Amino acid sequence: MTRLIFLGPPGAGKGTQAQTLAKSCSIPHISTGDILRAAVAQKTDLGLKAQSYMEQGELVPDVLIIDLVRERLNQTDVKQGWILDGFPRTVGQAVSLDDMLKEINQTCDGVINFDVPDEILVTRLLGRGRLDDTESVIRHRLEVYREQTAPLIAFYRDRQQLVSVDGNQPIEAVNAHLKQLVYPD
Ligand code: ADP
Repeated sequence: MTRLIFLGPPGAGKGTQAQTLAKSCSIPHISTGDILRAAVAQKTDLGLKAQSYMEQGELVPDVLIIDLVRERLNQTDVKQGWILDGFPRTVGQAVSLDDMLKEINQTCDGVINFDVPDEILVTRLLGRGRLDDTESVIRHRLEVYREQTAPLIAFYRDRQQLVSVDGNQPIEAVNAHLKQLVYPD
């Protein structure tokens, strides 16, 4: 049973690693960014509300995100475990996650913090070329990360749940480190 939170700045490689690790553990990869992008593409209520925040590199308001995650965590496949990627992104979201997990009688095994220097992040994101990956939006996303998401590092460190991983390595090396953490021999 694996239940992990992936924490880190935009471009740190959370999504790539979460996808691979989730597959090898046969558990769902829950990416709030992917869910929101699908909602935007389908022009659902949530998508219409979230779109302008995403385009500007702002966080989507907590209320919208928390409902989305609660709904996802109440689906049956999460009984096998899960990797949360891109959530929580604020202390408010982290506190709500605690409540949600209590409601479904689950606990989180650990929080993986992806460490990557800022210059590397900007280069990676510019190379990715997503709609919200223009230089000014990227710089803003990094500021938002520092102000609103980085405090979660101390939040989870204080609870002894945090493990840091050097994200400034080849994809396979990061993947090997994560597997070591999940399946220590
Ligand atoms: P990245 O790959 O750059 O880390 P994501 O794909 O996780 O970005 O998310 C893209 C955008 O979706 C964010 O910039 C933000 O606007 C929105 N978003 C995703 N997850 C959350 C969240 N937990 N809280 C608020 N906004 C979110």
